[in-house]
Amino acid sequence: MEIKNLKGVGVTLEKKLNNLNIYTIEDLIENYPYRYNFINIVNINNVLDNENCMIRATIVDSGRVQYIKKNFNRLAFRVVSENVILNVTIFNRAFLKQNLTIGREIILIGKYNKMKSSFVASDIKFNLENNTIEPVYHLVEGIKNNQIIKLMDEALKYDLTYDIIPDELASKYNFISKKDAIKYIHKPESMEEAKKAIVRLKYEELFNFMFKINYLKKMNNKAAGIKRSVSEESKDTFLKELPFTLTKDQLTAVNDIYKDLTDGYRMNRLVLGDVGSGKTIVATYAIYLNYLSGYQSALMAPTEILAEQHYKSISKTLEKFNIKTGLLTGSMKKREKDKVLEELKNGDINLIIGTHALISDGVDFKNLGLVVTDEQHRFGVGQRNTLRDKGITPDVLYLSATPIPRTYALTIYGDLDISIIKTKPNGRKEIITKVETESNIKDVLYKMLEELKNNHQIYVVSPLIENNEELDLKSVFDLKEKLDMAFQNKVSIGVLHGKLKQNEKDEIMENFKNGNIKILISTTVIEVGIDVPNSTMMVIYNAERFGLATLHQLRGRVGRNDLQSYCYLISNKEIDRLKVLEESNDGFYISEKDFQMRGSGDLFGVKQSGDIPFKIASLKDDYQILLQAKLDSLEYIEKELYLNNSYYKDLIEGISFIN
Ligand code: ADP
Ligand code: MG
Repeated sequence: MEIKNLKGVGVTLEKKLNNLNIYTIEDLIENYPYRYNFINIVNINNVLDNENCMIRATIVDSGRVQYIKKNFNRLAFRVVSENVILNVTIFNRAFLKQNLTIGREIILIGKYNKMKSSFVASDIKFNLENNTIEPVYHLVEGIKNNQIIKLMDEALKYDLTYDIIPDELASKYNFISKKDAIKYIHKPESMEEAKKAIVRLKYEELFNFMFKINYLKKMNNKAAGIKRSVSEESKDTFLKELPFTLTKDQLTAVNDIYKDLTDGYRMNRLVLGDVGSGKTIVATYAIYLNYLSGYQSALMAPTEILAEQHYKSISKTLEKFNIKTGLLTGSMKKREKDKVLEELKNGDINLIIGTHALISDGVDFKNLGLVVTDEQHRFGVGQRNTLRDKGITPDVLYLSATPIPRTYALTIYGDLDISIIKTKPNGRKEIITKVETESNIKDVLYKMLEELKNNHQIYVVSPLIENNEELDLKSVFDLKEKLDMAFQNKVSIGVLHGKLKQNEKDEIMENFKNGNIKILISTTVIEVGIDVPNSTMMVIYNAERFGLATLHQLRGRVGRNDLQSYCYLISNKEIDRLKVLEESNDGFYISEKDFQMRGSGDLFGVKQSGDIPFKIASLKDDYQILLQAKLDSLEYIEKELYLNNSYYKDLIEGISFIN
């Protein structure tokens, strides 16, 4: 029901409520308080002189108003509280005089002066019920907490709630009804009541969320896939050809993949590991196994540069096994492209590497069996459907270098199986990280000079200023000027920014890669997603503008060989937060810290609110409830109890399209 239908909501208030994302009465009801004010009523005899307190009192006269100045008045009246007679004063509330009925019981909040038996009140409450615990709501300009409280009184007269916790679970946990929960969360008579309501509402959200994810996962797991018969020995053949031995976690991931690809069900696995943890080789194994069983693979990277990089390294590894790799990019000549497309169609090419457009671009495969997708990009419904329409339902392997806390992985990637690579390959040096204030920039410049003298290269990142391209451009060119001055124009410095055309960007990147450019200044994160092992230093200006996880990812651009690498975070603010990066090079530890400090809201430096549709639950604080909800929803699905519940039956109709 639209919010304007609620008593007391006019056009102006409606607009303000819209700013709180409240459009309907249901929205208002689900706009939960984020904390409560406790107001303890005390006995006046126990109050110290001049102490702030809340007392119960009975009115003994009808009061007098004194108008002192314009906009300044004083209401005075007398009350009795525990046999003490008090002269009460309250300023600028002349309008309250009409409520002063002799004999009426009220609650006074304010300061008590024992000597004078006077009480200067900051607030008077006339409604004695429910007002010792006051809900506190998120507000926007022009709306007061009291207004929300009043509107809630009206809204709660409607019965708009719908209980969606399955009965068996509600009784297992002795949950109160949704209707009561809604009442208690907004109008608790005790904190016990409020807590009961909160737990119940959180569980409801988390159960619902986990149900959807687990249901999806179950459908994915059950989806018939290619059943390959490849011996386990093939694994050893592959591993023997590598110039290194796999780390423990890499080996686990390889075993997971072996199982996934041979069990007859479709693979849907995420390999999660820091930059440089060695995910590529794990993916290469999957491609190898897929090849042995007679299928083609596709690897999709987020940018052309990354696709080319993958092509170079992976095709080298796969050559040894006579696996033919092809590259397909937008910048290729039509003739080259046509040749690759033809070879793909007739099966001469076993692995094709390209950007995410690869699949959708009407590419024909002979027999695609595996899709590997790099970096965050989920294999979208659209892409899946494109393939399904062609009669192809490949196994899918995702690679992500965004180390996220388990809590979070469990939810946003909850429909995938996950292999985590935590151990780093041996011999890798930790990146030495320092937080410096701008006043210490000289030290940083000296360090840069030192690295340049060793013929190493440097990244400099200057973060985007909110949606202001002009300012961004100005700030990076200012930076270039400063560096040119510092190094007396003797060092070649390239600038990557958002206004450049793709071919201009590519040219700059190429020059950085081949060493013509020594310092690369960049405004954005994406374009540095690149492997230049000779760069040993990363300097990040205004580092406080980034989340720790993002900074860690940026830092991962250096330290890509045996050389000692450095990262300097320049900032005058939030030093303590940034120091976490000085302490640790472990992405999972850092993301956990980031998670604790900033919550899930902008873990990756971007708003994720769309992904996490919670009104009351928090992944950070409610992990235990989340785990319980996960177990319960799994059981609910396993036992097919949802078939007897019309709400969940409808819900799965809605999500079944994904397969
Ligand atoms: P990621 O894809 O996770 O960022 P890569 O797969 O590119 O990392 O690995 C980074 C580098 O480490 C590559 O040069 C790779 O050959 C090397 N590498 C991978 N695994 C190992 C290992 N177990 N021991 C030594 N070097 C490894
Ligand atoms: Mg499988």
